[in-house]
Amino acid sequence: MSHRPIYLDSHATTPVDERVLAAMLPFFTEHFGNPSSINHLYGWEAEAAVKQTREILAAAINAIPEEIVFTSGATEANNLAIKGVGEAYFQKGQHIITVVTEHSAVLDPCKYLKTLGFEITILPVQKDGLIDLSELEKAFRSDTILVSVMAANNEIGVLQPLAEIGAMCRDAPLGSLALAGDRNVLFHTDAAQAIGKIPLDVQAMKIDMMSLTAHKVYGPKGIGALYVRRRNPRVQLAPQQHGGGHERGMRSGTLYTPQIVGFGKAVEIALEEQTTENQRLTQLRQRLWEKLSQLEGIHLNGHPTQRLPGNLNISVERVDGSALLLGLQPVMAVSSGSACSSATTAPSHVLMALGHSEQQAYASIRFGIGRFNTVEEIDKVAEHTISTIQSLRKQALTV
Ligand SMILES: *Cc1c(COP(=O)(O)O)cnc(C)c1O
Repeated sequence: MSHRPIYLDSHATTPVDERVLAAMLPFFTEHFGNPSSINHLYGWEAEAAVKQTREILAAAINAIPEEIVFTSGATEANNLAIKGVGEAYFQKGQHIITVVTEHSAVLDPCKYLKTLGFEITILPVQKDGLIDLSELEKAFRSDTILVSVMAANNEIGVLQPLAEIGAMCRDAPLGSLALAGDRNVLFHTDAAQAIGKIPLDVQAMKIDMMSLTAHKVYGPKGIGALYVRRRNPRVQLAPQQHGGGHERGMRSGTLYTPQIVGFGKAVEIALEEQTTENQRLTQLRQRLWEKLSQLEGIHLNGHPTQRLPGNLNISVERVDGSALLLGLQPVMAVSSGSACSSATTAPSHVLMALGHSEQQAYASIRFGIGRFNTVEEIDKVAEHTISTIQSLRKQALTV
């Protein structure tokens, strides 16, 4: 029996599924060829494997294989999308719209473009974490070149209305004062948390670029992709990494065949199991929430239903955030409401954007329920979380 804490941090990363690992292994040793080697079998078999993943990813989002550009992950895909568009379209305009709750891998490339003279509109979110579409409508300008809005939030799990946003980027709605007719603003979405978990369709949702990553969906770390639309419109991207001209010149560097194979297998499995797995995760989340919400002073962060099935994010009144996390740590691996990606302990910018105080943001817990969590684990987590909160509150009263 392992005494390691129960893993409930699936938004940070997920383990590689055994089936994914099995698919990857031959590509480290026997099938080690460079997919760009066109003169022999070693290259051909690697290229065939890469092609298969391109097909799986394209089918997963209703794109075509030629529109998939492999990257090292979603961070790089976001950088390529935002800086690549900024550089390629700056003569058309220098205004970009994004959202306050985006991942830093979107916000920071935008901030970088700002240093080059671009103007960035950062939309607020409503109390439930969703953007207000009328705010987006007001933000469009004649020099807007790009809108970047994430599919699923990595902290509070909320799902932004992609289809509505995509439609607004293409055409101004009837009666709109801002601009008449075709708007033709590019739409990028960071779908790192969404791929394999919710339906994504770049045609129906009018998405022009989409960032993906493997390691949030039981694939390996270090591999991701950017979907780049080729038709209606054909997206121009300035490469951010120059070299041998791989990936149609958009991202040079020898393709990492084993990781790419793992990425494809991971997405294939996730899609096959999506419906049943989402039902299971929703049940587990509801079970956890029903138990935790029996306590007083517990609040759900983010929209109650418009969210990832495995995400539960709560704020706890009358406890100290760091004491809470310390109390939970022996039993479960969860994230708190402080910035996860940096050495600083700033409160989460996502929770602050919901209107929380710093105190509330710190005293928050993100439960990321995943493929390998069981009912027994959820019950144990609920029980320990409740007893930890109760004892911290009791201590606070007696001090
Ligand atoms: C994890 C994550 C990223 C970063 O992805 P990497 O592949 O780790 O670079 C970007 N955006 C969101 C929403 C994420 O959850």
